[in-house]
Amino acid sequence: MRDFIYAANWKMHKNPDEAVQFFREFIPGLAKKSAAARRVIFFVPAVDLFSSVQAVSGSAVEVGAQNIHHEVKGAFTGETSAAVLNSIRVTWALVGHSERRTLFGETDAATNLKMKTALANGLSAMLCVGETLAERESNSTMNIVARQLEAGLSAIVSDVKASPKRIAIAYEPVWAIGTGKVASPEQASAVHQSIRAWLTSKFDSKIAGEIAILYGGSVKPDNASAIAAKPDIDGFLVGGASLEVDSFLGLVT
Ligand code: PEP
Repeated sequence: MRDFIYAANWKMHKNPDEAVQFFREFIPGLAKKSAAARRVIFFVPAVDLFSSVQAVSGSAVEVGAQNIHHEVKGAFTGETSAAVLNSIRVTWALVGHSERRTLFGETDAATNLKMKTALANGLSAMLCVGETLAERESNSTMNIVARQLEAGLSAIVSDVKASPKRIAIAYEPVWAIGTGKVASPEQASAVHQSIRAWLTSKFDSKIAGEIAILYGGSVKPDNASAIAAKPDIDGFLVGGASLEVDSFLGLVT
């Protein structure tokens, strides 16, 4: 059984005081929602991680890093260690977000190393995959997604088999991120079903059935329920609509 996952990607927004204030309002609001099985994860800026972990302490809300380095220590100026994140009770790492791939040159090979390092150092890891508009228009969506899945997961097959719930896949069509152009529920679900089939062939149906596949790309309170209702949609990764308490709570059922 998979819990529905609501994941927020704050990108480079909010300072630590703003993050703490957000959680002061968000956590009581979440408590008023139904008791449905769900997980809520906030991928916050690196400087907000410590205060965010403290602010969510005692609640079911989890805090994740938007990026990690693939080594755990050493001469890597400006980078963040998965082991250090684990030591401050950060529980997730986001890997391979399209902004990291396109703006910071994160390669498939790098996602592979980062997934491995995250799991080896006590973090869960969410791998982002998704096609550009040109790739969709040339009918290459699933080729691209399969390549990204193969690269991101190949070094961690035994870890995934041992604990499939410690990984999640976020399908985020690049053309839908921050653009206001959301994939239709049918488009999203078709790719999610193909990802589930890929995971089944890589692992087996039991393991594939435990891995959450999230949709991301311009999710808002007014389009979320139609997408969530489709098969194999197990959660959302939300950028813009996660920045305000009311809009993020408005997605949560
Ligand atoms: C994201 O940053 O992963 C994202 C999906 O952003 P938005 O919801 O703003 O499209």
